[in-house]
Amino acid sequence: MEKFFDYSELHEIYDVVIIGGGPAGLTSGIYAARDNLKTLILEKNYPGGQVAITEVIENYPGFPEGISGGDLTDQMYKHALHFGVQVKNGECCGIEFDGNIKIVSLKHNDLKIKTKSLIIAAGARPKNLEIPGEAKFLGKGISFCATCDGAFYRGKTVAVIGGGDSAVEEAHYLTRFAEKVYIVHRRDKFRAAKILQDRVFSNPKIEVVWNAQLVKVNGETKVESLTILDKVKNIELDLKIDGIFVFIGWVADTEHFRGVLDMDESGFIRSDESCKTCVPGIFVAGDVRTKELRQVVTAVSDGAMASKAAEKYIEEFFGEH
Ligand code: NAP
Repeated sequence: MEKFFDYSELHEIYDVVIIGGGPAGLTSGIYAARDNLKTLILEKNYPGGQVAITEVIENYPGFPEGISGGDLTDQMYKHALHFGVQVKNGECCGIEFDGNIKIVSLKHNDLKIKTKSLIIAAGARPKNLEIPGEAKFLGKGISFCATCDGAFYRGKTVAVIGGGDSAVEEAHYLTRFAEKVYIVHRRDKFRAAKILQDRVFSNPKIEVVWNAQLVKVNGETKVESLTILDKVKNIELDLKIDGIFVFIGWVADTEHFRGVLDMDESGFIRSDESCKTCVPGIFVAGDVRTKELRQVVTAVSDGAMASKAAEKYIEEFFGEH
């Protein structure tokens, strides 16, 4: 994926600009380009987004043996390029309007990109623990990615925080490396899918610590223990561990759309079923949208919906493209 250098690489006005190159954004791009719309995807990190660093995806239809997130999103990226989508490295930091034209500002350079329609598919970022000791060890013993950092914990003991699909799935994955994995959960029930729960309950390397409120992370130069409060017995205890993997949900990075788009208290953007936001010509797709189920399959579905809605909007407000 290339960086923008100057305006010569830009169309004067795009039909569709898509913020985010994960499954939702790449799918929007494929649909838009096949409708012959001038389409640009802006991705701030790497194509594929969070899914690209997921070890294996077992519930994307068509792959009964599972497929790695990297392989799946790489194919989606190639698919988008194949139909002529421009995919560029860039981070949106603001939006202005000139009548029906939307103007996207990029961070780190002065480029302003004009477009008839905008699809926000910016995904979400992992939630922090927000307890004492976290800041000191972020990236140095506290991780949000088992695929990236699991191998550093060969033969060691780690704590996985959370009780959703991510925590339970990643805890199981981490037993490939770690000698022991605690799953530390704040309630007495997981919300994860039953099949994933069964897998961890039958894994002898995993011990679940229920009803645990996180108190602080301890250590001098490295993570040494996690203090938790047993909410049933009302006693504090220290779990001796070498690392912590946090999977407690997601928040949306949508600060620069605040005041423009309608969003919930965590920053997820509200839309209708066809992915239209409260602003005509701006659509939202994937994890950044308020929704019940955040999965690759729902992200790609949103991507298609948003793109078709954008095409209709362009026809209505700008005529033939
Ligand atoms: P999630 O479903 O929101 O689960 C977050 C977990 O963290 C919950 O168990 C929650 O506890 C706990 N939690 C939240 N805030 C906390 C805090 N401050 N301190 C301690 N614990 C806290 O997040 P996720 O597991 O990342 O999943 C997100 C979405 O992706 C879901 O829709 C999920 O189905 C999907 N996903 C699917 C797969 C798959 O299908 N294989 C894999 C990964 C993710 P409570 O339960 O008490 O609320």
